[in-house]
Amino acid sequence: MIKEIVEKQNNFFKTQQTKDISFRKETLKRLQQEISKREEAICDALFADFKKPRFETLAAETQFVLAELKYVLKKIDNWASTKKVSSSWINWPSSDYIYKEPYGTVLIIAPWNYPFQLAIAPLIGAVAAGNTVVVKPSEITPNTAAIVTEIIKAVFKPHHVTVVEGGVEVSQQLLEEKWDYIFFTGSSHVGKIVYESAAKHLTPVTLELGGKNPCIVDDTASINLAAKRIVWGKFLNAGQTCIASDYILVHHTVKNKLIVALQESITKSYGENIEASHDFSRTVNQKHYLRLKEMLKGEEILFGGHRNDEDNYLSPTLVNEPKLDSKLMAGEIFGPILPIISYNTEEDIHNYIMNYGKPLATYVFSNNKKFQNKIINTYSFGGGAINDTVIQITNKRLPFGGVGQSGIGAYHGKTSFEIFSHHKAIVKKANWFDPSLRYPPYTLPMKFVKKIKHLF
Ligand code: NAD
Repeated sequence: MIKEIVEKQNNFFKTQQTKDISFRKETLKRLQQEISKREEAICDALFADFKKPRFETLAAETQFVLAELKYVLKKIDNWASTKKVSSSWINWPSSDYIYKEPYGTVLIIAPWNYPFQLAIAPLIGAVAAGNTVVVKPSEITPNTAAIVTEIIKAVFKPHHVTVVEGGVEVSQQLLEEKWDYIFFTGSSHVGKIVYESAAKHLTPVTLELGGKNPCIVDDTASINLAAKRIVWGKFLNAGQTCIASDYILVHHTVKNKLIVALQESITKSYGENIEASHDFSRTVNQKHYLRLKEMLKGEEILFGGHRNDEDNYLSPTLVNEPKLDSKLMAGEIFGPILPIISYNTEEDIHNYIMNYGKPLATYVFSNNKKFQNKIINTYSFGGGAINDTVIQITNKRLPFGGVGQSGIGAYHGKTSFEIFSHHKAIVKKANWFDPSLRYPPYTLPMKFVKKIKHLF
C-alpha cells in the first residue's frame, strides 16, 4: 500500500501540476478554510489526547499554523519567482538566475507533543514549494492523528497529499521507500535512524530534534519576572515542549529568591489544586509518566511532585541540585520537572553546559548585556531568548531549528519554502560573442590567467 502511494505521488509530480503556483495557492487556501472550520474539533482532539488546555491548542497549534498559512499565501509569488543575480564578467555576455524547483515527493514524520502544529507546519512549506507529501502523524496522540487525516482528506487528492497513520513499524516501512526529501521531528535517537535511512538514497533531510536546554539566571536578573516567564514556558504543555527550559542554572546569591518566586508563580498560574486546573495538561501516556516518575526517585523535591497514576498526572515539580550523573540530568526531561542548580562562576556554567550536546534552545535572564552576549556568542544552540523563554518560535521571520545533537536544518516562514525547494542555478549565455581565450590550445599568457580571479 505504501509503495502504491509513493508511486502515485511520483506520477502526479511528473505531471508538473504542482509547479503551478495558483494550484499551490488554491490548495493552501482550502487547507486554511478547513482548519478554521474545524478549530473547535481540533481543540477537542488534543484535549482527548492529553487534556491539552484549549488556550494552548488555539495559540500554539491552530492559530500558529493559520498564521503560517496567511504569511505563505501573501509571500508565495515572490518566494517562488525566479531570481536574477549579477553575472560573472568571465561569462560575459550572460544573464544568471536562481530557479526554485520542488524536490518531488516528501515524507513528513511528526511527534506527539504538538501533534497538530508539527504535522501541519512543515506540510505548508512542502506544498507551497510544490511537492507532493505523505504525512505520518504520531500514533501516541490518536485523536489528533485522526483529525489531521480528516482535514487532509477533505483538502487534497491522495496523489498530492495523504496521511499514513501508524506507529514505529509503519514509520519504518515508510523509511524504506525512496523519498525526495524527508522532514522529521522527534527524538535525537530516532533522528539518527531516519538519517541513516535517508543516506541510503542520498535523500536530503531536515531533522528537528530535542536537547537539554539550559536556562541561566544571573545575579542581575529581574527575578520575579524571570520566574513568571520560566514557569510559563516550562509548564506549558506540561513541560512537553522541545524548546522548554530543561534545567535552571542560577547564580547562588539569587537562588533562594528565585525558588520562592517560581513557587509563587506556579501557584498563581495553576492554583492550589493544580490537578483540577483546566490550564495544565497531562503527561501524554503511561510510558512517559513512568519515565518521569523514575527520574524523581531519590531527588530532593522543593515543590510539587504530586501524582495521580490513573491520569498520568504529575504536577509542576522543582528539584534541588540533582547530581550530574542522576537520571534527571542524563538526558532531555520532557515533562513538568525543573531542576535548579546553582553556580558561582562563569566557569561553572561552562562546565555544566559542555556536558551535553548542542541544545535546541538556551535562555538567559540577566540585565547585564555583556553577559547576555557572552552566552550567545560562546555557545552553540538552535535558538533562544534573552529574558524570556520559548517565544523565539512565534516570529515567522526567524528560522526554527537545532544544531548538532538538536538537529539539522530549520524551517518556518520563508525558511520552510526554501528548504523544500532545490535552488537551481542557471546561466543563460548569449551566442553573439565567443572569445577563444578559454578554449585549448591555451594561448593566454599565464600572468593574465593569474588575474582572472577578478572576473568571477
Ligand atoms: P519520537 O522520536 O519517539 O517519535 C517521532 C516520530 O517517529 C513518531 O511519528 C514515531 O512514530 C516515529 N518513530 C518512533 N520510533 C521510530 C523508529 N524506531 N523508526 C522510525 N520511526 C520511528 O519522538 P516523540 O516522542 O514523538 O517526540 C518527542 C521528541 O521530539 C523530543 O525529543 C522532543 O525534543 C522532540 N521534538 C523536537 C521538536 C523540534 O521542533 N525540534 C519539536 C517537538 C518535539
